[in-house]
This record gives sequence, structure tokens and C-alpha cells, in this order.
Amino acid sequence: MIPMVDLKNQYQRLKPEIDAELAKVLESAHFILGPNVQAFEQEAAEYLGVKHAIGCASGTDALHLALLAAGIGPGDEVITPAFTFIATAEAIRYTGAKPVFVDIEPDSFNIDVSAVEAAITSRTRAILPVHLFGQPADMPALIALAEKHGLKVIEDCAQSFGADIDGTMTGGIGLAGCHSFFPSKNLGAYGDGGMVTTNDDALAERVRILRNHGSQVRYYHDVIGYNSRLDEMQAAILRVKLRHIDEFNRGRRRAAHAYSAALKAHVTPPHENGLGTHVYHQYTLLSDRRDDIMQALQAADIACAIYYPVPLHQQKVFAEDCAGVSLPVTEDVSRRCLSLPIFPELSDEQIGRIVETVAGALA
Ligand SMILES: *Cc1c(COP(=O)(O)O)cnc(C)c1O
Repeated sequence: MIPMVDLKNQYQRLKPEIDAELAKVLESAHFILGPNVQAFEQEAAEYLGVKHAIGCASGTDALHLALLAAGIGPGDEVITPAFTFIATAEAIRYTGAKPVFVDIEPDSFNIDVSAVEAAITSRTRAILPVHLFGQPADMPALIALAEKHGLKVIEDCAQSFGADIDGTMTGGIGLAGCHSFFPSKNLGAYGDGGMVTTNDDALAERVRILRNHGSQVRYYHDVIGYNSRLDEMQAAILRVKLRHIDEFNRGRRRAAHAYSAALKAHVTPPHENGLGTHVYHQYTLLSDRRDDIMQALQAADIACAIYYPVPLHQQKVFAEDCAGVSLPVTEDVSRRCLSLPIFPELSDEQIGRIVETVAGALA
């Protein structure tokens, strides 16, 4: 069996480092917002080249807290792609604001900047691009558009840890970046975890207060906050893995480039937009014969997945917001996209088997 992501293999490789750090946390009996969280925040901020990194309980919470700290609330509109994981839009709704879904570029699958411009109204307050599958969205164009219209840009970096545009890491380009440490993400914990990054001192302060029950000084509460903290075990694991993130991302790129070279005659491989580094959280191809490929992979005991089969504007939960909304590129891509296994440890032998199976299905 070749899985979508092989976390068992990675743990075996990192076991001595991780087990030693976890034992120290257990012995310290300090489990929430302790020295590992503080150190991880500092190390992550340094790695990403940002002033502030604030750990929280999940990527979904990072989005929610960043939007709240940016002042987004009821009556506001936030423009975002429909071709993403539900959490992007859920977080907008948690604040009381309305997600306004726009179409994507057919090649990069990222938010289409001209579609964003066309969707701006007097109620628009923010743009929430997703660096989908690990490839940076067109941030220079989005930032220019946002400045022209007085909008905030919050980045969904859940799939793009370590991706950059001209040396500036995703998460350090907009007003805030929202990261997820869900186990299968490029930088994954062994449970839930998330982080907000920003160069804005005031926004960082508000996120720090919001994640910890609206409190700056213990037992003094200024606003209604949340229990959304990163814990010491996850932070200790993330500190170990952060030391390997460049190697992980290089491994993902190596596997992706091997796939693309071997498959480009058979399918539409993922397109690198050349704006920055694609860190391949997913390797997602397009094919009119997706079902044939899936059947062959299944028969060969190789995992595959459709990210995402139902775009957000067609989800029942957003039916009211999206009556009459049609996003042709998003709908076409969701009918033809297929993601293959991708993880840093994917071997040449595994890649060979997968490529042969896909090519064989289309022969
Ligand atoms: C994973 C993911 C999230 C949510 O992260 P969690 O840590 O699972 O809450 C948000 N947006 C995107 C695009 C994601 O892939």
C-alpha cells in the first residue's frame, strides 16, 4: 500500500529526537503555553522572517483569530476562493462576515486577481487568498489591489509552510498569515495546532489576547476571547520538525518533478506559476479520465484523493450565500482534479510504480 502521506516512515526517522523532547515535556509537567511554545514561536518567526508568530490550537483558529484581530465582523465581506478546504470560509463566517467566493486561475488553481477586483463592493473589508497545494497565490498583485481599495489581506498558509515569493515567506506578505500544523501538513504536529504570523505589533497583541480567554494579565479579562492555545507537546514536536522543513519541502519538490516529467504526456501536471516556490502540499493533476486513473490506482493498492470534489459555493452550508453563483473554472477543475501520494520520503521505486499505473490506465 502506498498512502497519500507516510507519517509512520517519518516518525521512525525522527524518533530519537522526538521521543527525547517529549520525555522532557512529560517530566517538566508544563503542558500549556510553556517554554517550548515560546521557543517554537521565536524559531518559527525567525524561519519565516516575521516579527511575530503566535501559536494557537489549529489552522482554523488561526484564521478565525487573525480575522477578528483585523477587525472583520458582521456586515463585512471577505473575498476568498471556493476551491479550498471548508475551514477558510468557516472562519470568515465565525466572525459574522460574509464569504464572497470568486473563481481561480485554471493553471495554478489559486485565486484569480481580476475576479477579486470584480467582486469588490462597498462592504468588502478583506481578501483571504489560499496558497493552494503549497503554491503561493499572486501576492504582489493582490497587495497592490488591496492597497488601491483600502482592504486587508490575510493569507491562508495552511498548505504552504516554507513557500516563498522572491525570498519572502508566505505568511509574511499580507497583514497576517494563518498556518496549520495538522499532522499531514508540510510542517505537521502529532495532533492539532496552528499559528498566526504578522509584522503588525497591534494585530499580534490582539491575537495573543484572543487565544487566551481575552486576557493579558491572568484573571483580568478585557474582551471575550477563546481557549485556543498550542500545547507544549505539539510545540516540542514542531521544534524538531522545523529543523527539517527545508529538507521535507525539497523531498516533496523532488517527487513532484519526477511525477511531472514522467506524466506530462498523459495528464495535465500541476503548473508552477514561477512567482515563488511551490512546496507541493499536494500533487494535483488534471485529467478528463480521472475515474480510469482512480480505478487503476485502487487496484494497484495506491492511494489517491480528490481535493476538492465539491467547491464551497456548491456546498449546502453556503447555499443561501451562493444562490446563482457560478464559478466555471473552479467547477471544471473540481471535476478533473486528482491528487497523488506525496511526502518527502516517497521513494523512486514508489514513484515508478505510481507513474506506471497512471500511464497504464490511460494507454
Ligand atoms: C488544513 C487547512 C485549514 C485548517 O487547518 P486545521 O489545522 O485543520 O484547522 C485551513 N485552510 C486550508 C486551506 C487547509 O488546508
